[in-house]
Amino acid sequence: MNIRENIPISTLTTMRLGGNARYVIELKNPTDVPTAFSFIFTKNLPFYILGSGSNVIGRDEGFPGIILINNLKGIEIISQTDKSLILKGYGGENFDDFIAYGVNLGYSGMEALSAIPGTLGAAPIQNVGAYGQEMSQVLTNVEAYDSRTGRISTIATPQMHLGYRRSIFNHGVNAGKYFIVSVTVKLTKTHLTPPFYTSLQSYVDTNHVTDFSPKSIRKMVVAIRAAKLPDPAAAASAGSFFKNVYLNSAEAKKATAKGIPVWDGGKVPSGWLIEHAGLKGKEFFGFKVSDKAALILINEHAKTYADLEKARSAIQKAVFDKFGLNLEQEPVEISL
Ligand SMILES: Cc1cc2nc3c(=O)[nH]c(=O)nc-3n(C[C@H](O)[C@H](O)[C@H](O)COP(=O)(O)OP(=O)(O)OC[C@H]3O[C@@H](n4cnc5c(N)ncnc54)[C@H](O)[C@@H]3O)c2cc1C
Repeated sequence: MNIRENIPISTLTTMRLGGNARYVIELKNPTDVPTAFSFIFTKNLPFYILGSGSNVIGRDEGFPGIILINNLKGIEIISQTDKSLILKGYGGENFDDFIAYGVNLGYSGMEALSAIPGTLGAAPIQNVGAYGQEMSQVLTNVEAYDSRTGRISTIATPQMHLGYRRSIFNHGVNAGKYFIVSVTVKLTKTHLTPPFYTSLQSYVDTNHVTDFSPKSIRKMVVAIRAAKLPDPAAAASAGSFFKNVYLNSAEAKKATAKGIPVWDGGKVPSGWLIEHAGLKGKEFFGFKVSDKAALILINEHAKTYADLEKARSAIQKAVFDKFGLNLEQEPVEISL
């Protein structure tokens, strides 16, 4: 376990913003978890858990508490048959390496989630999803340290109340209270079949792909993402900056009449709203709306959270003025 002091949050997060954290502790071993929480208890300071910081934004005032970085590694096969694979990984494992492990053994369930940045332990927090798959479809349980009781327990998927970008880990009384130590998923040999999610389907059509094995889907998803999404190592962003908008049936009717696309379940793609408000490629206070994917906000040269607030408001206002719909920020913020 490694404890550092006065570390800029901008160096721990992919949007590269945020003042200093009082302490940063990197956890490398499951036994570091209770030790780190004893330190928190002794110092009597607030704490915040980070994986690779790809969905988190630091504020200018920093964080006067303790940031825990989950770097617990390891992948283990719990059971394997010709039908299914139960795979467990520690929370600090790279999410994409974990996916590759299952795909390379020929199992399906996470291949469409390939190349999502971040750690495995963060994936259940907002129930990560892409191209028609999401964690809720494969997750069986997590082992989590409850900061209130000091105990590690197994939490089964139905208890997590997973929804669109939400779970008990980021909403309600349990939000921020559990440290996810390990994640277990169940993958199967059943392959995905067409029709696929729009952009995946158009890749299949354009490239006349007929192999829908997990390896092939993973290869396509990696190629699609590489063509339109910034690599966090090369460009500062937190991925999709706004959540998609969900409408009830009356709102959906009105939106459809205005020519706004409303997908199954009342989902309006926020990227479409931003693009059709004419913002694609535009710069706001040092941030640029990506010219490849309008939902991505890239930090080109902004240094402060105050600039982000101004950029966010300008985009939200432009979309509201044009479509009467409110955009909500997706990445969470480190705050007291
Ligand atoms: C270019 C880009 C593309 C992206 N594409 C997608 C996408 O397609 N779909 C998608 O869903 N997301 C996407 N994201 C968002 C991000 O990759 C995911 O949210 C990912 O799960 C974050 O992992 P992380 O390790 O960086 O978590 P962090 O950003 O460090 O943390 C995210 C949240 O999880 C909590 N947390 C992290 N680890 C733990 C733990 N061990 N225990 C308890 N709480 C924890 C944090 O407190 C925070 O609330 C994208 C991001 C980028 C930069």
